[in-house]
Amino acid sequence: MNKAKQQLLDRIEADRELLITYLRDFIRLPSPNPAGDTRSSAQHVRALFDARGIPYRIIAPEETMPNIVATFDCGQAGRHLALNGHIDVFPAGDGAGWTRDPWGAEFVDGRIYGRGACDMKSGTTASIFAFLYLHDIREQLHGRLTLSVVSDEETFGPWGARYLFEHHPEIIGDCCLNAEPTGRNTFRFGEKGPLWLRFTVRTHGAHGAYVHRSASATSIASKVIGELECLAELPPAELGNLTAVFDAAAPTVDQEWGLGAARNLRRITVNPGLMRGGVKVNMVAAECVFEVDIRLPNGFDDTDVRRAVDAIVARHPEVSYEQILYNPPNWTSPDTEMAGLVRANAKAVSGVEPMPVVSLGCTDARLWRYKDVPAIVFGPSPIEMGGVDEYVEVEEFLDVVRVHTLSAYDYLSRPSSQPQ
Ligand SMILES: [Zn+2]
Repeated sequence: MNKAKQQLLDRIEADRELLITYLRDFIRLPSPNPAGDTRSSAQHVRALFDARGIPYRIIAPEETMPNIVATFDCGQAGRHLALNGHIDVFPAGDGAGWTRDPWGAEFVDGRIYGRGACDMKSGTTASIFAFLYLHDIREQLHGRLTLSVVSDEETFGPWGARYLFEHHPEIIGDCCLNAEPTGRNTFRFGEKGPLWLRFTVRTHGAHGAYVHRSASATSIASKVIGELECLAELPPAELGNLTAVFDAAAPTVDQEWGLGAARNLRRITVNPGLMRGGVKVNMVAAECVFEVDIRLPNGFDDTDVRRAVDAIVARHPEVSYEQILYNPPNWTSPDTEMAGLVRANAKAVSGVEPMPVVSLGCTDARLWRYKDVPAIVFGPSPIEMGGVDEYVEVEEFLDVVRVHTLSAYDYLSRPSSQPQ
């Protein structure tokens, strides 16, 4: 560890209480999406920047969902690193099932509890403080650092990072580091892609005793769902030299995310997440609407899947469908420079070298990869992410602060991709 990096670690250690307090206060400012109003959480970030004299811009195409962008140029020419995190969180409903207050940020046995503790106010705090630490030593560094703290991520909505990509491409840079949850054993270089489809089944309908008078919309829906589930049997796509990376990570993936996760990384999965049909038990249903979340592994695109869906729907003239959302599967080379920096710094900080994996879920990091900009994700454990009693281990949170600060430092210490 060189002297400058050791000084950064010393600074983080000195800020331990500040970091914990900042994160707890952040969690206490509810920002569930939907509805996605993040103004109080954004104000928490603004107050810190104001106190430190850091210039920033508020970009709020939707007033209740502000995005904050801060950037600085270093003392010497070089590359442009982007840090990105979101401030909206999953809803917590009425807190049913929680044994802690979802907005209380209780600190018990080394864990901070609350909605957003792991996804991802801890990760976004890491990005914010990495930005502040490097701002203080910017004269020693090369290039530019941009931080985007965004809203509207949890629903893949249009007002957060997607808006910035369209209207403020100056935030993109030439490499992205993001602290969405991963756990210390893995970092993520890619993601499966969700394809959401809404199906509508319409029939004439009838009295429930007169089933000879009409086909049933709900029965047809269940048949179509059964046929859609066969999409999972489509053969895995050819991945060339990525296959070895998937194979090497499979035992870790099963261990971290549950048995079966590694298999699901390589195949299409089908989840009929929502279904509404029929009016009454003694009527033949005349309408059924259902929505299906299909997850495409790397190597597939939606044309393969839609061709198969079209063939299924063609067998059922009562059925039509529309696409609600599609985010193509994506990846960055697992050997990209930032991947190496995160691996090395994580090992130095915690003793554990994280393995490269592809994510089952979806993050804003995909937007960088769609632009062919490398994007690497490393954050706290995803256990209980979005569930009841969501929490982050404080030591893991502090390690994420350390790994992000050191990796961003390393990247900006080099004027080009050639290691110095
Ligand atoms: Zn997230």
